Amino acid sequence: MKPPRFDYLVPRTQDEALAMLAEHGERAKLLAGGQSLIPLLNFRLVQPEALVDINRIADLAYVRERNGGLAVGALTRQHALERSETVRRRLPILAEACRLIGHLPIRHRGTVGGNLAHADPASELPAVMLALDAEFVVVAKGARRMLAARDFFTGVLSTALRPGELLAEIRLPGLPPRTGAAFVEMARRAGDFALVGVAALLTLDAAGRCQQARLALCGVGPTPIRASEAERVLIGEAPRGAALEAAAERAVAATDPPSDIHGSAEFRRKLARYFTRQALETDAQRAGGV
Ligand SMILES: Cc1cc2nc3c(=O)[nH]c(=O)nc-3n(C[C@H](O)[C@H](O)[C@H](O)COP(=O)(O)OP(=O)(O)OC[C@H]3O[C@@H](n4cnc5c(N)ncnc54)[C@H](O)[C@@H]3O)c2cc1C
Repeated sequence: MKPPRFDYLVPRTQDEALAMLAEHGERAKLLAGGQSLIPLLNFRLVQPEALVDINRIADLAYVRERNGGLAVGALTRQHALERSETVRRRLPILAEACRLIGHLPIRHRGTVGGNLAHADPASELPAVMLALDAEFVVVAKGARRMLAARDFFTGVLSTALRPGELLAEIRLPGLPPRTGAAFVEMARRAGDFALVGVAALLTLDAAGRCQQARLALCGVGPTPIRASEAERVLIGEAPRGAALEAAAERAVAATDPPSDIHGSAEFRRKLARYFTRQALETDAQRAGGV
C-alpha cells in the first residue's frame, strides 16, 4: 500500500515544530523514526494532512546525567540508548530493554520518544519507564507540563498527549545503593514484540531484605501494568522462595492479558508468573543480596 497524500513539514527547531503543530492541530502527526508511523500510513490506518518531521532538531537527541539520574531527549535513537556509556553506568536496565526492541536497523531509526508515544502494550520501554517512575516533559506552543509515566499510557496505542503536544524529554530518577534492576521477556522470535515482559527493581537493606520493590509488566493488558500489590508483599522480606512466589502470584493477579494468535491469556499468565520470579531473582543478585 502507499500512504495517502500529506504535507511534509521539516522544522529546524523545537519552536518551529510546535508552531506547525499548533497550526495543524489534530490534522498533523509528528514523524520521528517512522518505524511505527510509516507502516500505519501505508496501511492507511492514519491519514494526517501534515507530517511534521522532527529529525532535523538535533537538540532533541541526548542522554545527560541529571540530579543523580538521567535526562533523555525524545529523539534519542533506541540504539544510542543501548550503546550509551552513561546509561550503562546509571541505568543499565534501559540498555537491557532496548536490546530487545526489534532488530538493529529498527533501533537505529526508532526513537525513545516515538516508542513511548506509540504506546504499544507489548513494548518494552513503556514498562521500564513505569518501573523507573519516569517523568515526561511535554511541550506545546507556549506551554509545558510534566506527566508521570503512570499517567501517560491510557490504552492500546493511546497516551495522555493532546493534539499540538510533543514529548520532549524523559526524566529518570537515580537509584539508591544496593538496587538491582532487570528486564526480561519472552518473544516468539528474536526481535518480536514481547509476549510478556517484566521490568523489576529491588533495593535491599543492610540485612539483605527488600526495602523497596518496583514491578511493571508489558504484554498483559492494554497498557503497561504496575503491580503495586506484588511490590508490597516483598517489603521486609528476603528476596527468595516464598516471598518471590507470593510476589509473582500478586503480579499475575494485576494482569488482564489478551488471547490472540501469539498465545492465550492463560499462557501469558504463566509467562508473567515465571518472568516476575526470574526478574526478581536477577535483581537480588545484582543488588548483591544473594
Ligand atoms: C519489524 C519491527 C519490529 C519492531 N519490534 C519492536 C519491539 O520488539 N518492541 C518495541 O517496543 N517496538 C518495536 N518496534 C517499533 C519500534 O520500536 C518503533 O521505532 C517505535 O515504536 C516508534 O518509534 P519511532 O521513533 O519509529 O516513531 P514513529 O514511527 O516516527 O512515530 C510513532 C508515533 O509516535 C508519535 N511521535 C513520535 N515522536 C514523538 C514525540 N517526540 N512526541 C510526541 N509524539 C511523537 C508519532 O506521531 C506517531 O504517532 C518494531 C518495529 C518494526 C518495524
